[in-house]
Amino acid sequence: MKLITVFGLLFVLTLNTAQAKPFVLACEPEWQSLAQEIGGELIQADSATHGQQNPHFIRVKPSLMSKIRRADLIVCSGADLEVGWLPLLLRNGNAGVQVGKPGHLLISDYVTNIEIPETLDRSLGDIHPQGNPHIHLDPQIILEAAALIEARLSLIDPDNTSSYRNNLESFSARWNAALANWRITAEPLKGKNVITYHKSFSYLLKFLEMNTLTSLEERPGIPPSARHLATVASIIEQTPPLAVITSPYDPEGPNKWVAEKTGVRVLGLPYTIGGSPEVNDLFALYDRTIEILLN
Ligand SMILES: [Zn+2]
Repeated sequence: MKLITVFGLLFVLTLNTAQAKPFVLACEPEWQSLAQEIGGELIQADSATHGQQNPHFIRVKPSLMSKIRRADLIVCSGADLEVGWLPLLLRNGNAGVQVGKPGHLLISDYVTNIEIPETLDRSLGDIHPQGNPHIHLDPQIILEAAALIEARLSLIDPDNTSSYRNNLESFSARWNAALANWRITAEPLKGKNVITYHKSFSYLLKFLEMNTLTSLEERPGIPPSARHLATVASIIEQTPPLAVITSPYDPEGPNKWVAEKTGVRVLGLPYTIGGSPEVNDLFALYDRTIEILLN
């Protein structure tokens, strides 16, 4: 009997040790990947959405509910990107990941969002009321986010602070080197015009010093009307852009229509990790995106 109790106790202790690895639930694959860069083997990380999904709109499935229950840290873009589903998800999360707790990290709360609307009118249906939430395509924001994630992991798991700090240093050095390289490689793109479907790439285009002539969506989240598509077609005819750039989850119809009408090229960019098969980390995401635009 005593022996069974000792074995039982050992089993419980083993389980607790296994559970002690902080579990990071990211809202998007880019933050899962960044958390993994900083946490390495010391953490477990997963993402609520994958690279082929529109992060604005997902259905909260029971499997996701069970993930939020065991999350120690959530990392999301914020600025209302996840407003359609994160509140529901959080209702099922533990106390540590609620608003205001160390386990709750929305990167947009700490960085500068661009494209903040001058007049805020939700009745217009704009899904970027807090400014553009697609912040991970600004390489400088990636560095800031890495430091924020390191600070949170160190709060949640103080025993491993020095490892998290070392990983942050190593990542930042590699990222800064890559960033310097991207600036050089992408030089020919400077000043080039593109058209987007949704405003998914605004931070990237700002970094690359490229111009957005217009978007196929009249307002973020509003599918293009026939009248607006005709306007886009006439803009393309007056100022032919490099391409119409799209994410893996944008609807194909309007892009195809504009391409057929004007002969403009449509370029699909990966947008995030898993947006195309070879894009398996943040370095590959930027490498591949710049490569597609250059070709
Ligand atoms: Zn958006």
